[in-house]
Parts: sequence; structure tokens; C-alpha cells
Amino acid sequence: MPEIRKKYMEFFESKGHKPIPRAGLVPQNDPTTLFTGSGMQPLILYLLGQPHPEGKRLVDSQTCFRAEDMDDVGDNRHTTFFEMLGNWSLGDYFKAEQLPWFWEFLVDQVGLEPSKLYVTCFIGDESTGVPKDTESADIWKKLFSEKAIEAKEIELPGEEGSGKGMQEGRIFYYDARYNWWSRMGVPANMAEGEPGGPDSEVFYDFGTPHDEKFGKNCHPNCDCGRFLEIGNSVFMAYKKTATGFEKLPSPNVDFGGGLERIAAAALNSPDIFEISLLKPIIEGLEKLSGKKYAEHSESMRVISDHLRAAVWLGVDGVTPSNKEQGYVLRRLVRRAVRFAFDLGIEQDLCQRVAPIVADLYSGDYPEVAKHRELVIDVLSKEEKTFRQTLRNGLAIFRKLTHMEIGQIEHGQKINVEHQKLDFPVPISGKMIFMLYDTYGFPVELSLEEAKKNGMQLSDTWKNEFEKAMSEQRKKSQTASQGMFKGGLADHSEEVTKLHTAMHLAYRALKNVLGEHVIQRGSNITAERLRFDFSHPQKVTPDQIKQVEDIVNQKITEDLPVSWQEEDTAEALKSASGAFGDKYGPKVKVYTIGELGNSFSREICGGPHVERTGQIGEGDKKFKIAKEEASSAGVRRIKAILE
Ligand code: ATP
Ligand code: MG
Repeated sequence: MPEIRKKYMEFFESKGHKPIPRAGLVPQNDPTTLFTGSGMQPLILYLLGQPHPEGKRLVDSQTCFRAEDMDDVGDNRHTTFFEMLGNWSLGDYFKAEQLPWFWEFLVDQVGLEPSKLYVTCFIGDESTGVPKDTESADIWKKLFSEKAIEAKEIELPGEEGSGKGMQEGRIFYYDARYNWWSRMGVPANMAEGEPGGPDSEVFYDFGTPHDEKFGKNCHPNCDCGRFLEIGNSVFMAYKKTATGFEKLPSPNVDFGGGLERIAAAALNSPDIFEISLLKPIIEGLEKLSGKKYAEHSESMRVISDHLRAAVWLGVDGVTPSNKEQGYVLRRLVRRAVRFAFDLGIEQDLCQRVAPIVADLYSGDYPEVAKHRELVIDVLSKEEKTFRQTLRNGLAIFRKLTHMEIGQIEHGQKINVEHQKLDFPVPISGKMIFMLYDTYGFPVELSLEEAKKNGMQLSDTWKNEFEKAMSEQRKKSQTASQGMFKGGLADHSEEVTKLHTAMHLAYRALKNVLGEHVIQRGSNITAERLRFDFSHPQKVTPDQIKQVEDIVNQKITEDLPVSWQEEDTAEALKSASGAFGDKYGPKVKVYTIGELGNSFSREICGGPHVERTGQIGEGDKKFKIAKEEASSAGVRRIKAILE
């Protein structure tokens, strides 16, 4: 096991923490998020007050995937996949334990040089009355002074960081954008009732020269690469009220620290790709390409990151497709293949690199060993399909540029009549973009192909390309907004309607199939809902029709939807919940229909429509588009409103 993960677990176990297993990269009980992107995400219900079966002190290493960091990959410190070490106090210990423990772990266990550590604290928020976090700063001051380090405190609110710089500080106060945590961001954005609190981050100083591209002066939160954020202790201490904040009776600690980043600090290497969990992949690429990492660091970082992430997504059951998680996996493989192509690796990339990744994790994660062959196979097939796409792109390129039809490879028939008119010779940037965007044909290949054939490029092709690219980006950003955010983000109208429809469908399934039907998972996007439930056989077409009819009947009846807070024991007698869920003393119950004579009662966090009639707005009907097996004894339906 990588030493640091092991040390961390053992260290916090010695402080009374129970180790808990990682959650999968695909969240099980959060229908609005594609991936697990932090250690906090799978534990949110416990941080919000439900008792955890393992107690009040937990420790874990959570595998994370952040699609939103994909564009940062290539720098020295971001990967899409990473492990987040986490320790948790569920209403137990607080700052006085957390900060000295993390310090002890970094300094005594990992062996970091204390003089290279810098910390940040929350500066306070006058408008909501949250005070400056001098408590944390005082603890840090004491810890530094024990190592004979004078710890000067500096305030850097707003944009002052790059203007004023370090000023020989050690403890830096920043405002809510850097040192405040809540599910909704800064205090002003928080809804009434939401918990949040200040956090305190630790940075490692690599002492590399500042790059003015990132601002005039360097400071811990500067992005130039000198400082690396290695861990963040969130002190969830407040609840938003109508007028400001009130203190929570028993505040939590939520700590998250990047394993790869702490390892890089331990090596005193500003490049996280030098660590033992990534270097072997880089070395594999050097061998395959015959090129040096030092000269191709960006592409080799992208390929290593993407294939490591792809293997892990595969292990957690994702397969390439055109939707959701599957689409992200497809993008990872395609980007890796493209970058590898530029390095001269023209085949068998996944076949050669995925096993290296699997070997790095098989010892510690039996699921990686178990799915190894299957995952390598899935990724290799995806690579083959994409290479075929590339060949097709080449054919289209030739056709578009008015070459002889006979020259098109493999006799592929491609209808490009309507596009031909848009792309006169010389070759425009718009055409290069179309090849890139629609056919996945790399820009470099278009340029190369043009050169090989002595074709003219339009003088402004680069501008044209970038314009098309930014238009496309705007479109896809709007489309995916919410889906990549950390949890419970999408409260769009479509999702809300489908959410209520799901409650109707759950009750209808029980009515038609029997009370053994228990929810086993769900996922909702703006387009459809997916619902997994226990049932031993296929649901027959006739039963599906009955379920649809019941749901549509209830939509027509325009029943009221309301919620009440109830004692859990009482609620569980009459309301259904999801399999395996553990609840706190009080729960929110959503009722569809009149109270006392309801159609459905379900323990749920919401949100929902106010009346079922809203689901049918625009003359929409509930329809089960698909029924299939999900796993042994579990069926899956996908349903839409159309
Ligand atoms: P950054 O500003 O560097 O992107 P962040 O503020 O997004 O970091 P958090 O959300 O606080 O980070 O996550 C907790 C810890 O997880 C960080 O302290 C860092 O060590 C690690 N981490 C976050 N994002 C990444 C990433 N893309 N790759 C590797 N480690 C990461
Ligand atoms: Mg980030």
C-alpha cells in the first residue's frame, strides 16, 4: 500500500477513528450528480445529523473523480481521478484536536519540513456576523512556535493577494471565496437552514520561482504552482438563519487532503506525476513512445491521468457510451488516444497502459484486481472504435477537400453533400473544427494532411477555429451545468417533475408487483429517470402498462404534494425509503395526495412539484421506455415524460 495512505489510516485509527470503505465513483443515492468528487459527498447525510453506524470518528480514503478539472490536467497538480484522505468528526472533536493531529501527521508521520508549510484561515464575514477564525490561527501559531517558527498573520481579503503578496506571513486570512465551505458556496448564497463553516487549509511551499502570468505577487492561493494545497479542514459550525447564522449545537469536522499531493510534498517534487502512483504510467509511456517525459510532460500527464481515471471508472462499472458517466469515460479514452497519437503511439495504447494502472492498485483494492481483464478489454475496444473514427475522419477530410472519391479509404460511404458547400478551398478553420468536433479528427492531423497534399489553409483558420470552438463550449456548458457539480445541484423543472413521477412510479410498482419492491438506486437527469428496485423476475409488458396507467391516472388527478417532518420510527411504519438507508431521529416525508388518505408517502429530501398535474403539463404522459435487469434480483426501469 502506498505508505502515506496506510500511515494516514493508522494514525487516525490510533486516535479512535473507524476506517470506512470508499464509496464508488458513481454515487448510489444521489440522482443528480454524475460522480463522487470529494470525501464529503458520500457522507453528507451523516454530516447533516444522521448517526453513522460506525460512530462519530471516521477515517477513509475516498476515490474521487472531477470531470470539471479535466482542462486543468497537464499542470503540475490536478488530475481528474485522485484519492482524498478524509477524517471526520460527527459532532465529536473540533479545531483543538483536528489541527494539531493533521500537523502531527504531516510533520512527524510524513516527515514534511515545517518551515515549508503555510496555512490559511477565514477572515470573517461582517454581513452575516461570522467572526474571524482566530481560534484556528492561535492553534497554528502555537504549533509553529513549537518548531521555532515565527508565524506572522496577514490578511488578504478580496484581490489583495497578488497586490500585497507574502509580506513574510505564515498564517493568511482569506475571505469566503477561499476559506468557507457550504454546499451552496459563500454565506450570501446559502439558503436558510443550510449548514456551513470556515475552513483552514495547509499549503506546501516548493520554493519555485513565481510566474507573473498568475498575478504580480505570489501568495498561498496563487495558481503559479509554487504553493500546493494539500489539505483542508472544514469546521461545519453554523446554520444559516433568516438574519445571519446560529451556531450548531454539535459542530463537525470534515477534513479532505489529496493523497497524491501529500505524496508530492513528501518527495519535495512540485510535480505530482513523480509520485509512485503515477510515475510508472509515465515511464510506460516513455517506453512506448521512445520520447522523454521532460520534453512531453503535458501530453504524458494527460494520457496518464485519463487512463488511470478510465481504469477506475471501468472498475466501478462505467462503460463507454454517449451519455452521462459513459460519455465522460469515452472522452477520457479518446483524449488519451489523441494525445498518444501525437507522441507517435498509434496502436494498443490501452492494452499496454491499463495493466500498469491496474497493477498499481490491485494490491490495495481487490475490486481492481477482480475487474482487471474486463476493464482492459472494454477500454481497448473503445480505442479500436475511435481509431476507426479517425480513419473515417481522414476519408471525410479528403472528400471535403475535393479529392477523388476513389481515394477514400475502405470505400466508406459518407454523405457530406450539405457540408461541402460550407467549406470551400482553401481549408477554413470552421471545417477543421467540424472534423474535430463531429468526427473526432485531431486538428494536428488536418494540418498535417493539408500539408502533405499541398493544400492551402485560410489565413484566418485559427481564429475561425477558435470561434467555432468557443461557441460549442458555451453550448455544452449550458447543457452540462449542474451535472458536474458536487451533489444535489440540479433543481431544474424537468428534474423536479421526474422526481415526483418517480415517487408515483415507486408506489405504482408496489401496487402492481407487490410490497417486496424496494428502491435500490435511482438517477434522474432532465431527460429521464432511472429507478432500480428489488423484484425477482422480468416485469411483463402488461405489468408495465398497468404501472404507466396508474401513474398517468395520478397525474390527471392533480394530487397535492406536501412534506412533513416526522419521527423516524413513526414514519417508517407507513412511508417507504430506499434500501440500506439509515436515518436520523427525524425525517422529511413527502406525501402525494391528501394527508390521511394519500397515494404515496416517502422519506425523501425533495425537491418536488406542488401538484402532480404539473408533471403532465404540455400534455405529457409518463412512459416506461425500458425495463431490464440491473443485477441479481434487481430490475431497472427508465422512464420519460413525452
Ligand atoms: P484546487 O484549488 O487546487 O483545485 P480544491 O479547492 O478544488 O483544490 P478541495 O475541493 O478543497 O480542493 O479538495 C480537498 C483536497 O483534495 C485538496 O486539498 C487537494 O489536496 C485535493 N484535490 C482537489 N482537487 C484535486 C485534483 N484535481 N487533483 C488532485 N488533488 C486534488
Ligand atoms: Mg479545484
